Amino acid sequence: MNDLDQTFEDTWKTRSDRLGGLSYAKYLESQEWREVRAKAAKRPHYQACWHFGSTEGLEIHHRSYKWIGTKHAMRGLVALCRECHQRTHDYAKGNRISVRKATNLLKKEKATLEGQGTQLGLGI
Ligand SMILES: [Zn+2]
Repeated sequence: MNDLDQTFEDTWKTRSDRLGGLSYAKYLESQEWREVRAKAAKRPHYQACWHFGSTEGLEIHHRSYKWIGTKHAMRGLVALCRECHQRTHDYAKGNRISVRKATNLLKKEKATLEGQGTQLGLGI
């Protein structure tokens, strides 16, 4: 399968076509997203931050936009605490990489740092 998550703009254009031209911001206000998010939030897999395991201030994050507007809308979602969520989007923007890449890199970074027994100092 092609990597459709090159950049936010690339991937969202594809999704937007599928949603009849809806922007991502509009999609986030939609009933469809409300339902998908509510469903995800109830599942065991989404009860802790995917990056650091925090159980406070959790938000459902699109690790990938690939499945938005499909019957597999639950795919590509992870729970992140507010702080990690913000950091992920900042990281993607700052490094001009896809949100998916940023989400995965920050997860890997955590594993690496834990392996080294290093303190992250991220205030989490
Ligand atoms: Zn977190």
